[in-house]
Amino acid sequence: MSLKPALAPPAVGISRCLLGESVRYDGGHRHQPALVAALSQHFHLVAICPETEAGLGVPRPAVQLVQQSDEIRACGVADAELDVSTALVDCAVRHRAQLEGLHGFVFKARSPSCGVGSTPLHGEQGEVVGSTSGLFAARVQAWLPRLPLAEETQLVDAAACEDFIARVWAYYRGE
Ligand code: SF4
Repeated sequence: MSLKPALAPPAVGISRCLLGESVRYDGGHRHQPALVAALSQHFHLVAICPETEAGLGVPRPAVQLVQQSDEIRACGVADAELDVSTALVDCAVRHRAQLEGLHGFVFKARSPSCGVGSTPLHGEQGEVVGSTSGLFAARVQAWLPRLPLAEETQLVDAAACEDFIARVWAYYRGE
């Protein structure tokens, strides 16, 4: 009798601060224990923190997204001369092969790196002019337009969480 090797579970990326790791700019986290427990029942979770993996350190200056001509840059809140855009995009480029192996991603909402459409976009005078995706998440959206994505705020509701889990399984099966 031959035993079939067990299939690896789907791999789902997750913003590292949602796991309770103290990687935010202020040294804090945004642990979502119920969500992490639900996802862990189905998936292998792959933790990524673009800002720390870009070498920005903890704690670090807070950054925000700023529309500059036809470009969106991640600039310091207190020091507008600080620009970490290149570090964040380079971090995404380094992770590209790993990202292409994922079957879904749960991002931290409103982050200048991780938000998916919810991150405030500022004008050059600091005023909010709209909302967009963080620089790392935007690369993921551009490279992998079919990859199931969600922000943690969209998965509070049990039905929404189940729907995301189903979307990941469908992507994993190639549907
Ligand atoms: S939102 Fe993203 S970049 Fe910010 S601390 Fe969490 S994982 Fe890191």
